[in-house]
Amino acid sequence: MVLAKAIVAREPAPDFKVNWSLEEIEINSPGEDEVLVQIVASGICHTDILLTSVPSGSFGITYPKVAGHEGAGIVRSVGKNVSDIDAGDPVLLSFYSCSSCWQCNNSHPAYCTSFALGNYVGEQQFISARDSADLLGSSFFGQSSFAQYTIVKYSSIVKVKELLHDDEELKLFSPLGCGFQTGMGAIQNITCAGPDDIVMIQGLGAVGMGALMTAKIRNCKSIIAVDRDKVRLELAKTLGASHILDTTDHEFTTLDQAAKAIFPHGVSIVIETTGVPSLIEQGLQSTHTRGKIVLIGVPPLGYNLSVNVTEHLNVSYELRLPAHQQS
Ligand SMILES: [Zn+2]
Ligand SMILES: [Zn+2]
Repeated sequence: MVLAKAIVAREPAPDFKVNWSLEEIEINSPGEDEVLVQIVASGICHTDILLTSVPSGSFGITYPKVAGHEGAGIVRSVGKNVSDIDAGDPVLLSFYSCSSCWQCNNSHPAYCTSFALGNYVGEQQFISARDSADLLGSSFFGQSSFAQYTIVKYSSIVKVKELLHDDEELKLFSPLGCGFQTGMGAIQNITCAGPDDIVMIQGLGAVGMGALMTAKIRNCKSIIAVDRDKVRLELAKTLGASHILDTTDHEFTTLDQAAKAIFPHGVSIVIETTGVPSLIEQGLQSTHTRGKIVLIGVPPLGYNLSVNVTEHLNVSYELRLPAHQQS
């Protein structure tokens, strides 16, 4: 049994406001395929907020629980089936996957058929509140990293010992577990962007910045960074953005118009991380033929994408009536 502090999420208010508090917790020993990790840093992602702001019952979610899914820390003990990790090893924590379904067996653990259950819901067997003895939801994304100590699923562990230059650097690894790897994977694995591509990145959080840096590393021809936060836009310039679009600018109308003012034929790749419905649709309209859009940002529940398919299929053609038919 280990004592620690954690951010405990309890049933949210009716207006979807999160109900978080710092509490004393008790942590059991790791199970056979689990690892006890002392967390040194955790990123925070919009998914932590979303999945602690919806009422219990939605998506099978229960409260109270410990969220957090961008942890980095030091291994303190391991379960009996864990043989390649030792106490003292520095580790980065990422999402859970079952390691046995057809997606996992096809080397696509991010599409694990148990992803929603294993990551959004987790389990209730490792952590309890010290004051109330309430069992707390744990194993959120296999890790529940908003705690000083936590039990982590083996599949969530990434060993980083060889990558670290010094102990302090481990803190910087935490956003790699979700945000940065998502943005990087969108550029490198999904779109395979390269030197011929004009990439537009909508939203400059960890996902967008990860996409931006990867597009720069892969020598993409141009990179348009889009946000409403001037500090983020300035940072994007230093990280390799060739153009920036500030959606709060008084001259800004729509994203497709702004993008086509720079590149009249449109862009080849859009990475959408905002989840804002109007930006999703304008991003799609910004692409030229053979263009790609990767949807990452989560829109409001119930939103349906509206696409004028005929217009989109003919996006590179100017459809004009013959002169004698024009009035
Ligand atoms: Zn996340
Ligand atoms: Zn799986």
